[in-house]
Amino acid sequence: MWFIRDGCGIVFAVVTWFLVLYAEFVVLFVMLIPSGDYMYSAINGIVFSLLAALALASHCRAMLTDPGAVPKGNATKEFIEILQLTSGQVLYNCPKCCSIKPDRAHHCRVCKRCIRKMDHHCPWINNCVGEKNQKYFVLFTMYVALISLHSLILVVFHFMHCFEEDCSSSSATTMTLLIFLGLEALVFLIFTSAMFGTQMLSICTDETGIEQLKKEDRRWAKKTTWVNLKAVFGHPFSLGWASPFVMPDQGKADPYQHMI
Ligand SMILES: [Zn+2]
Ligand SMILES: [Zn+2]
Repeated sequence: MWFIRDGCGIVFAVVTWFLVLYAEFVVLFVMLIPSGDYMYSAINGIVFSLLAALALASHCRAMLTDPGAVPKGNATKEFIEILQLTSGQVLYNCPKCCSIKPDRAHHCRVCKRCIRKMDHHCPWINNCVGEKNQKYFVLFTMYVALISLHSLILVVFHFMHCFEEDCSSSSATTMTLLIFLGLEALVFLIFTSAMFGTQMLSICTDETGIEQLKKEDRRWAKKTTWVNLKAVFGHPFSLGWASPFVMPDQGKADPYQHMI
C-alpha cells in the first residue's frame, strides 16, 4: 500500500478528517436534529452525510493511491544504454532517486520519488497529486467545496431563523460551535473551490501546476479538452467520474512505461 511517512502530512490529513467530522457533528446534532422539523432534517442530513462520506472516501483514495511513482534505482548506465538503443529516445535519469525519468515526471522531495505528471505535493492529502490520483484529488476538493457550501447555507438559515424567533435560550457552546462551523465552511469553500477550478483548468489544458510554474515548453501533443478530461477521469464518460470508488481507466499507457 502507498503511504507517505511525513509527520507534517499525517498531521494535516488527521486535521482534515477532524474538520469534516466536526462539520458532520454540528450539522446533525446542533442544527438539524434539535430543529424539530422532520422533513428538513432528514433531507439535509442525508444529503450532507452522503457528500461528507464521498469527501472522506476521496481523501482516502487520494492519500493511499500511488500518484505515479517511477521505479527507484533502475537508472544504471547499462540499462539506460539498452533502452535508448531500443526506444530511440534520449533518456534522463534522476540523481536523487536514481530512476529513469520519463517525460513530464518531477522529483518530489517529500515522497523522495519521481512522480509522473506531478502537479504538486499536497500536505492535506499527505501525497503528491500526479497522473494516477488526480481524479481522487479533484473529487476531494469538489466534495469539500460542496459540504462547505451546504454547511454555510444551513448556518445562515439557522441564524435567520433566530432573528425571526428568539434564540436567546441557545447556550454559548451552541453559538460557539455554529460560529466556528460558519468560519470553517467559508474558509474551505473559498480554498477548495479555487483549487477545484485550477485543477480543472490544468486538466483541460493538459498542463500540470509545475509545468505552469516553470513555464516549461510544450513537448507533448496538444489534445482536445474532452480527451484530456477522459485521460484523468476515465474512458468513457460515466457516473463513475464522480465516484471515488471507480478507478479511472486511463487507456493506453505511456509507450515505454512497461520498460521502466
Ligand atoms: Zn527522482
Ligand atoms: Zn510528493
